[in-house]
Amino acid sequence: MPFRSGFVCILGKPNAGKSTLLNALAGEKLAIVSPKPQTTRNRVLGVIHIPKKKGTSGAQVVLIDTPGVHRPDTSLGKKMMSEVREALNGCDLVLVIVDAVRKKDASDQFLFSLIAKSKTPVFLLLNKIDLLRGGKNALLPLIEQHAKQHAFREIIPISARKGDGLELLLQKVVAALPGGPPYFPEGQATDQPARFMVSELIREQILMNTDEEVPHSVTVLTEQYEELPKLTRIAAAIFCEREGQKRILVGHQGQMLKKIGTAARLEIEKMLGTKVYLELFVKVRENWREARGFVEELDWRRQLEHLMAPESKG
Ligand code: GDP
Ligand code: MG
Repeated sequence: MPFRSGFVCILGKPNAGKSTLLNALAGEKLAIVSPKPQTTRNRVLGVIHIPKKKGTSGAQVVLIDTPGVHRPDTSLGKKMMSEVREALNGCDLVLVIVDAVRKKDASDQFLFSLIAKSKTPVFLLLNKIDLLRGGKNALLPLIEQHAKQHAFREIIPISARKGDGLELLLQKVVAALPGGPPYFPEGQATDQPARFMVSELIREQILMNTDEEVPHSVTVLTEQYEELPKLTRIAAAIFCEREGQKRILVGHQGQMLKKIGTAARLEIEKMLGTKVYLELFVKVRENWREARGFVEELDWRRQLEHLMAPESKG
């Protein structure tokens, strides 16, 4: 049997559990997770290395977590949907993940329209079955209902949070991949630069500690990242859209910013395995979500391209 490898795109509506699934399959936290919709804003890659075992020949599954499928109304939203399309483009397998306990609505049609014409095999994952009352009896009608939407190659009930069904899922994923070489060296779990993951961990704390418009109006840019012998020194800017949001983020006597900073620092230390000195600044950039240029600047893949370009200016 040849070595198998391929790109597997995780697709679904906001909050279906895509990033939770990526982290669970990868066995480490590569993408931030929150109960708020539109937590994930860019493609997140997770590489699963499956060693050779008796009777099998090893595989590499490159998972791509994506922003939730939605109809965009800002430049940021459009950028997020273009990330979804890029992930879908040229992948070997699509995992459509739906929240099994949520009622379907019009936005499900939009999701299924994205895969309607694709020739790529698609698995449907019914997620959050830990919340489903009625067990198997409740699952069967759901499976039947979804089977009408698309000729899914497989329909698999899972709980990304509890880990139920994931072993079976991974087996079926590997079996659906073509023969091919590993794309990433062993030991590499993602392609995200550490400084971007740092920004995400800070944003995660903002998502957890603020409400309403604030989580959606915030983006984080790591401006300084210095690996010193005994600690990593990081300075990051939190951009929001209005003065009122800045007041909330800073909080009474700076308490909110302190809370966010402390919690984020602990997470960053866990990820990096070093002590971290973290400094946060809050800046207002009016309507940045509508500003195409700025939204593009936030894309770390784009930033890297600029750094690599031999004739780049500045
Ligand atoms: P995404 O927007 O699709 O990436 O969704 P997330 O992975 O960020 O998860 C959204 C919310 O659903 C979070 O609060 C998760 O903890 C929760 N969640 C994800 N998977 C499960 C699951 O299998 N069971 C339960 N009970 N909650 C889940
Ligand atoms: Mg996500």
